[in-house]
Amino acid sequence: MTTSAAKKLFARAAKKIPGGVNSPVRAWKAVGDTPKFIARGEGAYLFDADGRKYIDYVGSWGPLILGHARREVLAAIHRAANNGTTFGAPTRLEVELAERITQVVPSIQKVRLVSSGTEATMSALRLARAFTKRSKIVKFDGCYHGHSDGLLVKSGSGVATLGLPDSPGVPESFARETLVARFNDISSVEALFQKQGHDIAAVIVEPICGNMGVILPQSKFLGHLRGITRRHQALLIFDEVITGFRVALGGAQKLYNVRPDLTCLGKILGGGLPLAAFGGQREVMDLLAPQGPVYQAGTLSGNPVAVAAGLETLRLLSQRGVYEQLERTAQQLELGYRQVIASHKLRAAINRVGSMMTIFFGVDSVTDVDQARQAHREKFATYFHSMLRRGIYLPPAQFEAAFVSLAHRKADIDRTITAFSAWAKAQSRG
Ligand code: PMP
Repeated sequence: MTTSAAKKLFARAAKKIPGGVNSPVRAWKAVGDTPKFIARGEGAYLFDADGRKYIDYVGSWGPLILGHARREVLAAIHRAANNGTTFGAPTRLEVELAERITQVVPSIQKVRLVSSGTEATMSALRLARAFTKRSKIVKFDGCYHGHSDGLLVKSGSGVATLGLPDSPGVPESFARETLVARFNDISSVEALFQKQGHDIAAVIVEPICGNMGVILPQSKFLGHLRGITRRHQALLIFDEVITGFRVALGGAQKLYNVRPDLTCLGKILGGGLPLAAFGGQREVMDLLAPQGPVYQAGTLSGNPVAVAAGLETLRLLSQRGVYEQLERTAQQLELGYRQVIASHKLRAAINRVGSMMTIFFGVDSVTDVDQARQAHREKFATYFHSMLRRGIYLPPAQFEAAFVSLAHRKADIDRTITAFSAWAKAQSRG
């Protein structure tokens, strides 16, 4: 048997890049085997180094809501790049993008551009601490906010309120500043505030969880978070790196009508190039240097090529009917999956908000991270590989969102459901 291009490339990669990848989930550890190497993307499709074509539901983990290589975005990138790729000085385009962001996300009065979601959340927390003059933050078990030290913390059983580091290299003294609550469990937040409310600078939350698979906020959860933080004069930070411009142009805060103090954006904002942002109330944002004393900076922050891609992406997302189309396409996918599940009597739960969706196997419903953790990961792995063989490229882990883009057509959805049905049939036989 000949060795595939992917296997050869991965062997080379593993010699020079830790684990062979530049971000861990790309190594497919959760589903086994080695990853495909991608040669190019076009619309809803990926083409790998071995020449195979896939319908893509990863969308580079969220940014590609328009699909791959959208013509207008490429043109904007070319236009910007022809004028030079970086100046380290202000440009007109970044002003336009800041104005656009404040238009579509009304809780943001001022915004600063950075290059990654990790930077956005890290900087938002520094700002919240400076504004409140408090040091502790609350995050939720299972929510991911990038890999800065204080955010690489989730609860382990029995240490839910202590905060232990998830990674060697994160000092326990840093991790202790992070308190962990349970998503969709407002009493777990109340308890933390009761005990240490005067020390808590901010609550940071993914308003719709995307990083333990998609988990929806229960009715009033986000509103309650707003109420508690306000009562205790702590800031509420929505990490909308995934949900921003995804579930609505104005993000999850628009969908659920809750106004955070600070918002973190990324992914879609850069239209596929490295760009992220954090923003919020004027009086908080004005603490940032050079206006205020809170230091934050970046050589490539507001990079003109990334900003051009982002502006064009937001322009295209502002056209009429865009979110309705995303909803229709994703709904077709969900309904097709539900029919297959019912006809093959599979035990599975599907969570979806707009164009983000996760299927959890072996459970009836998933409303919190504990239920998510009960999902059958081995079953997910067989599903993943079966779909891949049939040309469907899904996120290679249970605890991720699959994304539908504007480039997905009904025929793509139908093919995906047919592939799922074939796997389901084999399951019910086995
Ligand atoms: N916040 C959320 C909700 C995310 O999903 C991610 C990345 N998946 C981040 C922050 C970190 O963003 P980045 O990978 O750009 O640093």
